[in-house]
Amino acid sequence: MTTLRSESLDAGPAQAGPRVGVLALQGDFREHARVLASLGATVSLVRRPAELDEVDGLVIPGGESSVMDKLARAYGLQHPLRDAIAAGLPVYGTCAGLIMLADTLRDAIAGQESLGGLDVVVRRNAFGSQNQSFETDLEVPALGDAPVHAVFIRGPVVESVGPDATPLASLADGRVVAVEQGNLLGTSFHPEITGEHRFHEYFLGKVRARAGRTAA
Ligand code: GLN
Repeated sequence: MTTLRSESLDAGPAQAGPRVGVLALQGDFREHARVLASLGATVSLVRRPAELDEVDGLVIPGGESSVMDKLARAYGLQHPLRDAIAAGLPVYGTCAGLIMLADTLRDAIAGQESLGGLDVVVRRNAFGSQNQSFETDLEVPALGDAPVHAVFIRGPVVESVGPDATPLASLADGRVVAVEQGNLLGTSFHPEITGEHRFHEYFLGKVRARAGRTAA
């Protein structure tokens, strides 16, 4: 078994790509780290505020948003994360990560907080329990003509999209399952486990653009 540690996961400075952190408090952060490294990013795991300062972009993985929220607060990460989002750090959230990025939550547990940033209302567990997980193909015009194969595992749905956010993909019944807003990207499903890399590529485009602007 491979163990990922907090240090850089790439092959060294000769291949240094954009520095992308994966929030590693809980959930499927290893899967994201592998996809990002395969796309040439310099990947690190983020568990402490100082580790957040070292990255040009951040992925918040799937998992359990109520637990991630509690751990983010326990690790003193909630405010640094909110500050980084407000300062324009590119952040991509999948499933629980999308919940973390939503401004407004429905069916949250008592006291659950999100980080916010995306002008959306997100309903947790909108498709039912774990055994009602499903897969489907989605049209995502921003990623080209080929449909995206999407896996939903106790996923959330974007119940309403405010004026600052843009839907990127919807189910056949019209329910929105992917959104973006400036440097923020969120999907109800898990591209990190299907071999679908276009969302990560799309996100890395935002990271590179921001890193270029910051360096200039
Ligand atoms: N239901 C989970 C939550 O509320 C999300 C599930 C997932 O990330 N696959 O956080």
